[in-house]
Amino acid sequence: MIRRFLRLSLSILVVVSVTIPALAHAYGSSVHRLVNRSALLHLPPSFGGFAQWATDLEDLSTAADERKCCVSGESIKHYIDIDDYPEFFAGTLPQTYSAMVSQYGQSRVDGNGTVPWAIEASYQSLLAAFQNQDWTAAVAAAADIGHYVADTHNPMHLTVNYNGQLTGQNGIHSRFESQMTGRHLAELEPAPGMAALIMDPLAAVYMSSDTQILAPVFHGSDDLTGI
Ligand SMILES: [Zn+2]
Repeated sequence: MIRRFLRLSLSILVVVSVTIPALAHAYGSSVHRLVNRSALLHLPPSFGGFAQWATDLEDLSTAADERKCCVSGESIKHYIDIDDYPEFFAGTLPQTYSAMVSQYGQSRVDGNGTVPWAIEASYQSLLAAFQNQDWTAAVAAAADIGHYVADTHNPMHLTVNYNGQLTGQNGIHSRFESQMTGRHLAELEPAPGMAALIMDPLAAVYMSSDTQILAPVFHGSDDLTGI
């Protein structure tokens, strides 16, 4: 039974992971809704029962952002300024939160954002919800995973220069994730293909942080717009 729950929850995580790349790394609320809605398209037929969650997954896709105002510690869960850690590019960055804190100190780790461990915590919540057959909690946890994973595919959520403040490009964050994506939302299409099993969610999150290499490209492209 536990194995079945594990497969279900892993699939949710994987579904959002495989869906996001074709969504052009974007993240206003409308994109978060699109990502979570599209996730179900990648489930195999044996997961047909998940269709009843479609509306809830979409409606709860921005719940994590809405908690920023009122839940302590929420605001740092949506990003990681991973280029502040040279070890990431050397492939030697620790993956667990405790190992990161031992190496860099809590203030630097929290200050740089904690999205990998927010995903890990939501994944554990999803597992527990399945085991307890608490479907309301399961949908909420799955929606949060979709949100946080989507955030990790936005290069502006993965860099110290998250708003162009270091390169004279103030406002690039909003220009990219809200204005540009809002203008082109109708052109975004979910990636084809089915979900694949991920055995190590945290390692997968770190791999998706490779999206960070696109940050300089985005900064360069923003310059070309002449804004
Ligand atoms: Zn977010």
